[in-house]
Amino acid sequence: MVIAIDGPAGAGKSTVARAVAQRLGFHFLDTGAMYRCVALAATESGLPAAEIARDARIALSGRVLLDGRDVTEAIRTPEVSAAASEVSTDQQVRDALVAQQQRLLSDGNWVAEGRDIATVVVPDAAVKVFLTADPQERARRRAVELDADVDTVLYELKRRDEQDEARQHSPLVRASDAVELDTTRLSSDEVVDHIVALAASAGVAR
Ligand code: C5P
Repeated sequence: MVIAIDGPAGAGKSTVARAVAQRLGFHFLDTGAMYRCVALAATESGLPAAEIARDARIALSGRVLLDGRDVTEAIRTPEVSAAASEVSTDQQVRDALVAQQQRLLSDGNWVAEGRDIATVVVPDAAVKVFLTADPQERARRRAVELDADVDTVLYELKRRDEQDEARQHSPLVRASDAVELDTTRLSSDEVVDHIVALAASAGVAR
């Protein structure tokens, strides 16, 4: 059973998906962390990203482990964000990571978040949510998280959105049957309540 949460950077996906998973007793999968791991390893090693996506061992239980190394913080830098958006345009990278995601999600109850969960990874997900928020608000949230300048974050976030929306393979797009939730004026608790209610009406949760 999968609850799919997609949307652009800074819409609140990770916070909300993690909290929904906790409320329902589901596992949580942050697919962006996988693209970030591939980007970090490719930058460090100079090897083709597709090769890394096939061979790297990525573990996501709590801390993020890349071939046994804790990269939880290292994958969150602006440089890795930009590199992740870049490597995610490569179809071979996507094929390798999507196959791993599908293997994980085929067993048990999950909340999975990313850009293509409802459209590509699990098109038959029980609940599909597309989270959005005004770019200014998304940048403000990210800037607080990263302790960075809002205008710089806004510029980088818009560039990443454009690249994610314009790419040829699995672009960021709302699945036609996904519920769109604008989180600009909502607290994360309100968004979580809303998704839990959607899950209940889909018969996924009490
Ligand atoms: O969600 P997060 O910001 O960590 O994702 C980093 C990048 O990885 C995104 O900008 C996007 O290019 C890519 N990504 C993707 N498909 C996913 C998750 C993330 O292409 N399912």
